[in-house]
Amino acid sequence: MKFNVIYIEEKIKDYPNTKEILARINYKKIIYCENYNQVFNPKNQNFRIQKAEPSIILAKKEQNFLLNAPEKFTIGYSKNFYFSHMLNCVYDCKYCFLQGMFNSAHYVIFVNYLDFFNAIKSQVSRSKKTICFFSGYDCDSLALEKITNFLSFFLIKFQKIKNGILEVRTKSTKIDIFKQIKPMNNIVIAFSLNPKHIVKKFEDKTPSLTQRIKAIVELQKLGWNIGLRFDPLIIDNSNNFIIYDFFKFIFDKIETRRIHSVTLGKFRMPKQFFEKFSSLRPNEYFFINKENEKFKNIGIYENQLRKFIDKKKIFRN
Ligand code: SF4
Repeated sequence: MKFNVIYIEEKIKDYPNTKEILARINYKKIIYCENYNQVFNPKNQNFRIQKAEPSIILAKKEQNFLLNAPEKFTIGYSKNFYFSHMLNCVYDCKYCFLQGMFNSAHYVIFVNYLDFFNAIKSQVSRSKKTICFFSGYDCDSLALEKITNFLSFFLIKFQKIKNGILEVRTKSTKIDIFKQIKPMNNIVIAFSLNPKHIVKKFEDKTPSLTQRIKAIVELQKLGWNIGLRFDPLIIDNSNNFIIYDFFKFIFDKIETRRIHSVTLGKFRMPKQFFEKFSSLRPNEYFFINKENEKFKNIGIYENQLRKFIDKKKIFRN
């Protein structure tokens, strides 16, 4: 991956992690800025145009390291937070809510990883209950690991968190980092999955369904906990048998006993993001809007899932 410009906040230009990340990037020039928002947030940017040639912005996250997860969002724990060491994603799913949320498609990497970890440490030290932390809400947690080295840093630290669970949400099959360290009980590697034809039609630049299943099988053999995320499950004009076959295709290959959790959810996007999304992607907007109307009865798909996995492991979001 080559980048024309790397933007760096002045205040972090001498941070060791800034220098280490830079050493892993192939780039033409550096531009320094005072605050990443100067580059990332101007309103008259076009997400689609930037997506064709995104830059990297190295920045420092100053506050709000952890955010409360939406109330009903759970994989079995009562306290849930999400966080993102990165904004934006190397993939280009047509239904991605990030294009409605951000003005820019540049990749922001917050280099002060330790501050995220300290926020988690402080949160668990104040709780008697197990807390779940979701990584990768505003990005894909794994796809840019070769550049960020975020998980290399974070997983080892997270070993010390006794009453915390970390979900690493991804569509990536670059699983090298998980081959280099011993499996940890408090990590769930969660793969987002959709039927083959949906991946082809809507999840641009992502690994195929078969490649993702292959990665899951490999990780399970190594002993890692796996989560399956049908969330959002994108419905097109296929009938229910296609979704059943899709579930069967997956559960035939993986070890069901060792699945930590399965989530099932429909496509959703806050109203103000949806308006922006509809102007950037009018075709997908109409399609997803229309077809997901049919999704009102999500129970059909949950019943199908129950044929493959214990209902206690299924969570509807
Ligand atoms: S993988 Fe997730 S974050 Fe990345 S483009 Fe697709 S939906 Fe968006």
